Amino acid sequence: MSHKLETKAIRTQMERSQYLEHSTPLHLTSSFVFEDADEMRAAFAEEKERNIYSRFTNPNTSELVEKVADMEGAEDGLAFATGMAAVFGTFAALLDSGDHIVSARSVFGSTHTLFTKFLPKWNIETSYFKVDEPEKAEELIQPNTKILYAETPTNPGVDVLDLNYLGDLAKKHNLILVIDNCFATPYLQQPIKFGADIVIHSATKLIDGQGRVLGGVTVGKKDLIREIYLFARNTGSSLSPFNAWILSKSMETLPVRVDRHCQTALTVAQFLEDHPNVNWVKYPFLKSHPQYELAKKQMSQGGSIIAFEVKGGLNAGRHFFDNIKLLSLSSNLGDSRTIVTHPASTTHSKLSTDDRLEVGITDGMVRLSIGLEHHEDIINDLKQALEAK
Ligand SMILES: *Cc1c(COP(=O)(O)O)cnc(C)c1O
Repeated sequence: MSHKLETKAIRTQMERSQYLEHSTPLHLTSSFVFEDADEMRAAFAEEKERNIYSRFTNPNTSELVEKVADMEGAEDGLAFATGMAAVFGTFAALLDSGDHIVSARSVFGSTHTLFTKFLPKWNIETSYFKVDEPEKAEELIQPNTKILYAETPTNPGVDVLDLNYLGDLAKKHNLILVIDNCFATPYLQQPIKFGADIVIHSATKLIDGQGRVLGGVTVGKKDLIREIYLFARNTGSSLSPFNAWILSKSMETLPVRVDRHCQTALTVAQFLEDHPNVNWVKYPFLKSHPQYELAKKQMSQGGSIIAFEVKGGLNAGRHFFDNIKLLSLSSNLGDSRTIVTHPASTTHSKLSTDDRLEVGITDGMVRLSIGLEHHEDIINDLKQALEAK
């Protein structure tokens, strides 16, 4: 019988050891032992699934991966040391020299650097469509295009891309659809239902949810995951068992945490929308969001990230940041602590001004990652910083 997402996040667990522990134990071991020569031979010949060496698999990383795969409705998956290792591992394993990517323009800063600075070294080029013109994606497809790539909601603009449309486009042109589902988490949105072949998570964000460890997870079709696994196991981007143990434990509370994040984010977004010193607010479940109807169709709630612009440009923006008292000025997101980020001067500072404006990052734009503090305290801090003389 298939369980609900909340139950999968908790009850997908590794077999108990002889000690019958209730909570998952931590398996800090680099390698595993064999009974005899034949068992060792069989393990290396992959005649039977078992742990050999923690760069390949470890019970703690397997438990984390199984949870994410269960919630996403994926056949298989694997864990990485960071979200970027998951993104890079996916491209490196699935692409050959001369292949081509079609991607949304708005992607995570390091993913953008990967497309523009590193993949071209291996003769892999990327063409971009704007998030408000996804219909242009089809014109960008070439005979050598292999991957269609997008994040939704996007970082940091919180735009929403139509997963159904991307799934159909990938199918029509026989492309691998890769979705970075970091902002939505496996709890709010399952891109595989809409035709994604691979789904990537930076587990560093809401999956950990408490700003402690880095991690990445890739899930999807079994044959594609096999390719990515072979690349990862031979190049050493594995997640540590300790971080996997933390992340798997965090998964148990992901649904309740994300429920609260979303509830508070909507309340804060409504407050900002009504504030006279704010130019605009973008949050997927605000009626004013250009893709509100679409967001409602593919996400169960609006997520924890809000983008907004302080009136008065760069100086007003800086003044707002300098007056924040309770909330954290940091570049991370998906933490129990609310985080205020200025993308133009931090996460997206490597982009040219034109490239920044093209993805909606104005000088005064603020990204808010709503935490788990009481919503009145979050609003009060934002209010006094917006109104500071
Ligand atoms: C943070 C992030 C990543 C990269 O994850 P790391 O764990 O920091 O390597 C990738 N995509 C998105 C959307 C992110 O927010």
